[in-house]
Amino acid sequence: MRVDAAAQSGRKVAVLDFVEPSPQGTRWGLGGTCVNVGCIPKKLMHHTALLGGAIKDAKNYGWDIPLPVHHDWSTMAQAVQSHVKSLNWGHLVQLQDRKVKYMNLKGVFLDKHTVQGESKQGEKTILTAENIVIATGGRPKYPLDIPGAKLGISSDDIFWLQDSPGKTLVIGASYVALECAGFLTGVGLDTSIMVRSIPLRGFDQQMAHLVTDHMASYGTRIFWKCIPIKIEKLDSGKLQVIWKNLESNVEERESFDTVMWAIGRAPETGDLCLDKAGVQINPETGKIIVGANEETSVSHIYAIGDLAEGRPELTPTAIKAGKLLAHRLFGNSTELMNYDNVATTVFTPLEYGCVGLSEEEAVQQYGEDNIEVYHAYYKPLEFTIAERDATQCYIKMVCLREGDQRILGLHFIGPNAGEVIQGFALGIKCNATYTQLSSTIGIHPTCAEDVNKLNITKRSGLDPTVTAC
Ligand code: NDP
Repeated sequence: MRVDAAAQSGRKVAVLDFVEPSPQGTRWGLGGTCVNVGCIPKKLMHHTALLGGAIKDAKNYGWDIPLPVHHDWSTMAQAVQSHVKSLNWGHLVQLQDRKVKYMNLKGVFLDKHTVQGESKQGEKTILTAENIVIATGGRPKYPLDIPGAKLGISSDDIFWLQDSPGKTLVIGASYVALECAGFLTGVGLDTSIMVRSIPLRGFDQQMAHLVTDHMASYGTRIFWKCIPIKIEKLDSGKLQVIWKNLESNVEERESFDTVMWAIGRAPETGDLCLDKAGVQINPETGKIIVGANEETSVSHIYAIGDLAEGRPELTPTAIKAGKLLAHRLFGNSTELMNYDNVATTVFTPLEYGCVGLSEEEAVQQYGEDNIEVYHAYYKPLEFTIAERDATQCYIKMVCLREGDQRILGLHFIGPNAGEVIQGFALGIKCNATYTQLSSTIGIHPTCAEDVNKLNITKRSGLDPTVTAC
């Protein structure tokens, strides 16, 4: 929650923050998942991998770089970790500047206005508050029914490893799995992903498969339709993973230096004694049930971010929701968070950015006959001299078919997808139409201009490959 926003309104504000170490013993500082074990170190490691690609391209552009180049994990890790630590410090200073009392305590509810904080040394502090915001987020899941599961690491550990994880198996096929496997492959490690069913559940599946197609061509091995059964530590120190191929029903095995679980995240609600405050959770997901104003079943207790039922698990939505809550509570505002059309990007080696509905969702909501899908395979200019394969560089825009064709969703795979999608997200939030988009002029030569130039519909069956300059 934006505790600073609440404090700026002159209220007395305290924030309790406490990191329970991962099962592997990794711990970190103030700022939550995004800063310490999520978006920030992930993006920096993704960038590390992109630099490796740029070095290879550079030769064709005349740079005399002796190839192959080697990457040193420890140097990267130290640089990333020291940046994260500077952010921890920055957050602490900001809290102090805004007169927020920071307490490194683990909180549990005693009743609906009372929280008990406990320090690492076991000292207890009782706090009472008029309003309470729960924003404890989530932590990676471990499949405890799988023997040897604890021999694996999770995204809580990968960014804090001092030494290279070596040959790695990432289990799972969503954001976290694909992004981590992507940068591990990119820094030159033998990396595999184990996919139980489909990649990027919840995303447009045509786009998701283009992402995994690209990863496969980039060097990531993908074990499709496989589930892990057991992990054993061998005398060599390596981890032997035994898994079942769900299609052939055959058991297979291979050894790895590191196994990383990326099978989803569980909300951190179990230890909060929410029942003592009367805060209701969804027993199936463990997430806190909230209303449109972020209020829980108890009127002065709010829940924001990954642990709130039905909310996107994305940092910027939680930050915005917290700010708006502070303004409603103390600033005479009535503005509610609008969770529609939140843009996001998967930072795989070839990035995938999107906003709005997937093609499947649009078909389900409006019917196939009522939507028009514009699409294009394009080649980023920078790929030409570098002789990079652009097979998966693809744009898809899902529109209503009638009238000016309101844009329902935009999907972009290519370099800098986050930067490309962010601007278009404004248009989609403002109900932009295909007609309006086509009337804007692209910036030449960019990848984003191919969004403005989309003109081939899927329905036409015409070749959507962009050929002209
Ligand atoms: P998700 O819950 O989205 O996905 C879990 C994945 O693990 C699925 O592929 C699932 O497969 C698989 N899985 C689950 N259990 C098993 C099992 N026992 N064996 C094998 N595979 C299994 O998890 P993530 O941790 O990737 O992401 C959590 C959230 O974090 C996301 O919802 C996202 O919003 C957020 N996030 C956002 C990022 C960004 O903005 N760039 C980056 C990273 C995370 P199946 O489909 O078969 O169930």
